Amino acid sequence: MSEERSLNFIEEIIENDLSSGKYETLITRFPPEPNGYLHIGHAKAICLNFGLTQKYGGYTNLRFDDTNPVTEKTEYVDSQQHDIKWLGFQWKNELYTSDYFDTLYDYAVTLIKKGLAYVDHSTAEEIAELKGTPTEAGKNSPYRSRSIEENLDLFGRMKAGEFPDGACTLRALIDMASPNMIMRDPVIYRIKHAAHHRTGDKWCIYPMYDFAHGQSDSIETITHSICTLEYVPHRELYDWLIEKLEIFPSKQYEFARLNVSYTVMSKRKLLQLVNEGVVSGWDDPRMPTISGLRRRGYTPESIREFCERIGIAKRENLIELSLLEFCVREHLNKTATRVMAVLDPIKLIITNYPEGKEEILIGENNPEAEDKGGSREIPFSNELWIEREDFMEEPAKKWFRLAPGALVRLKHAYIVKCDSFVKDAEGNITELRCSYVPESKSGEDTSGINVKGTIHWVSSKHAKHAEVRMYDRLFTAESPDSEDGDFKDYLNPDSITVIKQAYIEPYLTDANRDSKYQFIRKGYYCLDKDSSPEHLIFNRTVSLKDAWAKTNK
Ligand code: ATP
Ligand code: MG
Repeated sequence: MSEERSLNFIEEIIENDLSSGKYETLITRFPPEPNGYLHIGHAKAICLNFGLTQKYGGYTNLRFDDTNPVTEKTEYVDSQQHDIKWLGFQWKNELYTSDYFDTLYDYAVTLIKKGLAYVDHSTAEEIAELKGTPTEAGKNSPYRSRSIEENLDLFGRMKAGEFPDGACTLRALIDMASPNMIMRDPVIYRIKHAAHHRTGDKWCIYPMYDFAHGQSDSIETITHSICTLEYVPHRELYDWLIEKLEIFPSKQYEFARLNVSYTVMSKRKLLQLVNEGVVSGWDDPRMPTISGLRRRGYTPESIREFCERIGIAKRENLIELSLLEFCVREHLNKTATRVMAVLDPIKLIITNYPEGKEEILIGENNPEAEDKGGSREIPFSNELWIEREDFMEEPAKKWFRLAPGALVRLKHAYIVKCDSFVKDAEGNITELRCSYVPESKSGEDTSGINVKGTIHWVSSKHAKHAEVRMYDRLFTAESPDSEDGDFKDYLNPDSITVIKQAYIEPYLTDANRDSKYQFIRKGYYCLDKDSSPEHLIFNRTVSLKDAWAKTNK
């Protein structure tokens, strides 16, 4: 979709590794922890990992990094798979770190036998106390000099469930004076008497991330293990473990995580919004989750294009939410069916159009599409709904829409002139009375009249009702995470506006969840999952123009 671009730094590394013969086949992996739904940040990592093997051949594994039994659920595994497929990618192997628990246990035993790991009975606080500081070396644990036999025995008993949670840990024996704090005898196994979503009660000890991730990469012969910048300090340990265990030398590369303005991007925080009822669920259309974006009407193409445009950076940055909106607007402009919907209705009566007469007009579905997206039938009659904002009792300068005495074209139909209007007791305009020009029908206009404005409408007799939900940013702060106080202090109270009764063309009665629509002059919309034939509900994916562009730039 995008124009040619230069190679990013990961592509450069891969091209070198393939041309030098270091690797024959590129193998990457996407390793989500099944502790929540995937978000747009994960989409970035998905597009990167799968995109690389699409470009250079080889394959990508999907590996569920399920080493924490407490937070992981099968519901999350299922949703994560669904989201990856929906984005348009297919993994070669579906794998689980938990499938490697036996191998990882054996690796730990290997380390112990090499005198490179020991069982430590210190509490977490004691371990922290002896860890030192970035500028000050740590001190050796009193359990560091245990014999290999004693360590093997104790580790076996940890596995056998002889100790309660927290009683002891297995630590790699590296260097308590290392300038890299992570190398100061990291904990590699901990005791957790908790059932795991896949292994059930088989295990009561679980490997820590650092002992599971690199080893899993190596088991799968991952050539390029791509992760986010927080893991830079972990790389030394990643390499150390692979070297000491003498296993396949996977290599870790880091890129900057994606941050998007006016939202938060951590499963833990998103879970909080769900649990506290701030949003209706993981797929609330205001959520930055892939399921939320899908429900909102985003297309996989637009998300992939967004990930392509932002590129791969080595430094943290904040990407504008408006870029994501730009990408979906661009894709929907080419693909969405144009329809007419009136969100804030006011009645328009055509006094010289015969009462009871009906005409079927023809509307192009998409002037931007090559085949114009086909066409549809639009019923017309003497009584219409138009948008309240398309009439001004005392028109401003350069007002080209309806006003007393003014002419306007009704989209796909005729030119009308506003002759008079009716007000209720409170002074609200309730009805416009117009006359139409019979020879001005769109496509066969012989009236010779030029009008500057065109407005949309729906024939009131034929109109259907719909609820319309419009969304705005979930947060008022650009970066709610880095503000003072709690990120929830910055929730946007107006992030959703519901119009209970809009009027839509009868054509939309057949709308389905996969279809995307442009409500002309209004924005892009799609059917919501709560919708039913008796109660149609549409979500606004995005407005036609960036409403924030002027005020915020
Ligand atoms: P979260 O805090 O949202 O749970 P995480 O990094 O803990 O994020 P994982 O499920 O462990 O989530 O991540 C799976 C993969 O997605 C990892 O390789 C991770 O680096 C990547 N990833 C997660 N968040 C982002 C992000 N914002 N930008 C780019 N990649 C990300
Ligand atoms: Mg994680």
